[in-house]
Amino acid sequence: MAKKLAQYEAKRDFKKTPEPGARVPRKAPRAPRFVVQEHHARRLHWDFRLEKDSVLVSWAVPKGVPPDPKKNHLAVHVEDHPLDYIDFHGEIPKGNYGAGQVLIWDEGTYDIEKWSDREVMVVLHGKRLRGRYVLFQTNGENWMIHRMDPPQDPERKAMPDKIIPMMARLAARLPTPDDAWGFEFKWDGIRALAYVEGGRVRLQSRTGEEITPRYPEIHPMGRALGSNEVILDGEIVALDEKGRPSFEEIQQRMGLTAESEIRRKMKEVPVTYMVFDLLWQDGRSAMEQRYTDRRKALAQLKLAGASWQTPPFEKGGGQTMKEASAKAGLEGVVAKRLDSRYEPGRRSGAWEKIKNRNRQELVIGGWLEGEGKRRGFPGALLVGYYEDGKFVYAGKVGTGFTDSTLEKLNAMLKPLAVDNSLFEAGSAPRAAHFVKPKLVAEFEFVEWTRGGQLRAPAFKGFRVDKPAKEVIREGG
Ligand code: MN
Repeated sequence: MAKKLAQYEAKRDFKKTPEPGARVPRKAPRAPRFVVQEHHARRLHWDFRLEKDSVLVSWAVPKGVPPDPKKNHLAVHVEDHPLDYIDFHGEIPKGNYGAGQVLIWDEGTYDIEKWSDREVMVVLHGKRLRGRYVLFQTNGENWMIHRMDPPQDPERKAMPDKIIPMMARLAARLPTPDDAWGFEFKWDGIRALAYVEGGRVRLQSRTGEEITPRYPEIHPMGRALGSNEVILDGEIVALDEKGRPSFEEIQQRMGLTAESEIRRKMKEVPVTYMVFDLLWQDGRSAMEQRYTDRRKALAQLKLAGASWQTPPFEKGGGQTMKEASAKAGLEGVVAKRLDSRYEPGRRSGAWEKIKNRNRQELVIGGWLEGEGKRRGFPGALLVGYYEDGKFVYAGKVGTGFTDSTLEKLNAMLKPLAVDNSLFEAGSAPRAAHFVKPKLVAEFEFVEWTRGGQLRAPAFKGFRVDKPAKEVIREGG
């Protein structure tokens, strides 16, 4: 080229003329580009695309690009996409292939270290992703993506499998000084932690039981969180016809295991996950942070969907909150020290619950025969709690039962029958049917008498989520 234009060049001084010179500067070789698109299709996934030979070689990664070399993720090899797709984002209309929102999750350039039909090794220079990755074929379209470098964030830790939630102490009155505390409504339902990773939700009860399949309406919260990796703390509630959380309603969802039954009940008794804390975020524990900072980070997630909400808290103003809770027919309020950290598994003084009525879980230790219409069913339950490992009698409960509760009680108590009372303290009636203390239920009552018995108790519902041995007397 330069030789052919020698004559043209010799005649001109290119410092003085704006005409182009003969030596057209060659474009600097450009590094190939990559993009990761977060695709909210029927199933959330991340599309990983590498520019190669004028197309985008593409994989769909259901759980996203792994940040940690210890975790490989499935990457499904899909058809090449045109190069222009590299900056596509927006909505693919309903009814079309891949309908749903597409966001650019990351973009940048990359270096090829190795490229064959079965293995692609690259070094990514993105805004989020930096480092060496390998994709390798395992079976047909199924490949895996593996990070070869150490985690980008050296302090990043793997999400824990199990955290036991922090609990609140029962308090008779609101704590002071008022402005040192945050106040939340107390939700009457099932305590649950949500572990969210790669757009997937795993739900765990307060005892560590996996309860994910039981509450399908909460699963789409994972999509809403996209690539946010979090552990949330909250309460699963069922609202009654007046919009109040009803423990009696949610009981109908608690014991279900068959999928068809869950789907059916889900329509009758839908649940909402009330989120009130953030314990983990993007490879880091948040539990050492102050309550106010955790709530701030939680608010930034903007969790408000069809079946999940983030009810706010109030700094101070406990009395107003408590009155509002009573007016709304709620159980009470929970006060949390603004500067407190999260103490897993502890019933800490940093959290206090202040109830509008007395509620208490108790273990059923026996029953008295019913009379008249209740013949053949329990007329009253003998209940107790544990103190220093001893099973203590707390009184008898004769009201609050529906017909179906009585039938359930019969079915559940008969297999637990024993010959003699297993109460180890207090004076339980002798002429009664006794059972092994396994079955836990919740009761409402006016107060504890001086003799340590319940005054005017009523049955509220079963608590299959609570282990009997953990039932202690609260307050009074
Ligand atoms: Mn896609």
